[in-house]
Amino acid sequence: METAKVLLDREMDSPVVARVRTVLAQEADTELADLHLWRVGRAQFACIISVVTHGEASADRYKARLKEIAELVHVTVEVNRCADQHRTEQP
Ligand SMILES: [Zn+2]
Repeated sequence: METAKVLLDREMDSPVVARVRTVLAQEADTELADLHLWRVGRAQFACIISVVTHGEASADRYKARLKEIAELVHVTVEVNRCADQHRTEQP
């Protein structure tokens, strides 16, 4: 299914991708592991993101933050917890 992959990846050049990254970069302890975006309308996009955090942030929290991007009409968020203790706790 190479054709489907090409169609999917073409939207990755959209400015919306950068805006999603910017929004998520404002969240503490959040690493973006995966991001897929595709166009579902003239100026409407759906996206799937996967993040890794050591904290308790829920998928709903990230969805709420991404609501500021009006073009995103459907957002799916997968939150993965990193259980490692390698991160230095900030006082
Ligand atoms: Zn970790």
